[in-house]
Amino acid sequence: MQLSLVNVAYLVASLLFVLSLRGLSTQQTARRGNLLGAVGMLLAVVVTLGALLAPPEVTNAAHATQALAPGSLALLGAAIGVGSVVGAVLAARVAMTSMPELVAILHSFVGAAAALVGIASEVDGVGAGAAPDVAHHVEIHAGVFIGAVTFTGSVIAFLKLRGTIGSKPLVLPARHVLNAGMTVACIALAVLAFREGGAARVQYLLISAGVASALGAHLVMAIGGGDMPVVVSLLNSYSGWAASAAGFMLGNDLLIVTGALVGSSGAILSFIMCKAMNRSIWNVVFAGFGEGGGAQPAADKNAGPARKVNETNVDGAAELLLAAKSVIVVPGYGMAVAQAQHAVKEITSLLGARGTKVRYAIHPVAGRLPGHMNVLLAEANVSYEIVKEMEEINEEFGETDVVVVIGANDIVNPSALDDASSPIYGMPVLEVWKSSKVIMLKRGMAAGYAGVDNPLCYLDNTLMLFGDAKSSVQKLLASLGSRAEQQAA
Ligand code: NDP
Repeated sequence: MQLSLVNVAYLVASLLFVLSLRGLSTQQTARRGNLLGAVGMLLAVVVTLGALLAPPEVTNAAHATQALAPGSLALLGAAIGVGSVVGAVLAARVAMTSMPELVAILHSFVGAAAALVGIASEVDGVGAGAAPDVAHHVEIHAGVFIGAVTFTGSVIAFLKLRGTIGSKPLVLPARHVLNAGMTVACIALAVLAFREGGAARVQYLLISAGVASALGAHLVMAIGGGDMPVVVSLLNSYSGWAASAAGFMLGNDLLIVTGALVGSSGAILSFIMCKAMNRSIWNVVFAGFGEGGGAQPAADKNAGPARKVNETNVDGAAELLLAAKSVIVVPGYGMAVAQAQHAVKEITSLLGARGTKVRYAIHPVAGRLPGHMNVLLAEANVSYEIVKEMEEINEEFGETDVVVVIGANDIVNPSALDDASSPIYGMPVLEVWKSSKVIMLKRGMAAGYAGVDNPLCYLDNTLMLFGDAKSSVQKLLASLGSRAEQQAA
């Protein structure tokens, strides 16, 4: 095989992507990993454009056949220009808490692109009077199927994450039969299209795309709020396979490799998330889960029942913290919204300097994206040494004097362990109630993302400190500082 400049550049870009994934696997090397991925992508884009413009002898025969007409080139340039500007503005403006929405909508673009490439490829083939070839036919139908499922699934995920659609799962009767029926229909349409040949191929493909779109929407509609993280990571994997399928259709090796990397790393992340959430991957893919009693639509989330809670104030919380020998901080989505991480870090530094044993407990789905809390704590320069994952720290709550829960709710909800009717039943949670005292910082009695009430708020050893997390933490820091000074004087 003749090795062209393009092949070499594609190989280098693939290596950079692999090194990028490697780097992203630990917090210490994540920035470098991100940079390597960006460089790889820049190289990929520049070389692919170069291959379209360069004379055939610089590339090779395969790449030369893809050379574009000047009109198409102008269109491509305009599309890249507009896409780059929109992407850059959106990414610069997006709040960290809205990242999953952005990720979901970006997945939908990959799915739509793969489906459109497949349809265009079929239209081209029919226009050129080409007889269907089995391998190419399978590529097209598989690519359009995965692309369409990814597209509508991601759009529904985006709407659910935005709160436009309620978090309650849509559980249709005989939904498994419906899902299986739609999948079988797509396979049957692919077989029929192959047998019929001619222009009818395009019609069959379009019908199949429609059925696959309905399947994607239905699969994600069936997922309950608390389980959305797994769905987002699964759609990430689907988008990789969709890109890979587009790579096969376009004969682009780099797209095949990159898609496979995204698809397989997304699949691994989904398995890890499923394990963390105590769910089976097959349940996520086919069944719809997070169903059961209790899940409320997003609009109902503020409606908590009027049960008695124990309230405290900033001074009361400060006294408890100063008297404690060991403290664990549990950050959640509310800390991210309030951007309270810097003030929280100052509190833990102050306590640490006084000899208190301080740690942070991180739940795998805390916040709104995998690793959300780790990113915020790293931004506030919290030492990695005291940031503990759920399985490391759960044993330690029983020996802890005070746990401070900051804007977290679902991840510390005991009904996940003891209420079989709860939508989050079975999900492992941080067992904070085992400590001597829990101080829970939140604004009111609103439920978390899953829309379920949290019995932790009503326990005897839980004290509620109401208010915006940032303002409460800042006041707590001031109170701790002045009390510590008084004690030292
Ligand atoms: P939750 O969404 O369960 O709870 C957050 C709590 O923070 C709310 O109850 C809210 O109560 C409080 N809050 C909101 N704003 C503030 C503020 N400014 N100050 C103080 N408190 C505030 O968050 P968790 O982190 O506990 O759990 C994450 C949830 O999100 C899980 O259900 C998870 O499945 C889901 N999810 C996670 C994703 C991921 O990848 N990590 C992706 C998508 C969903 P109040 O309004 O009363 O203040």
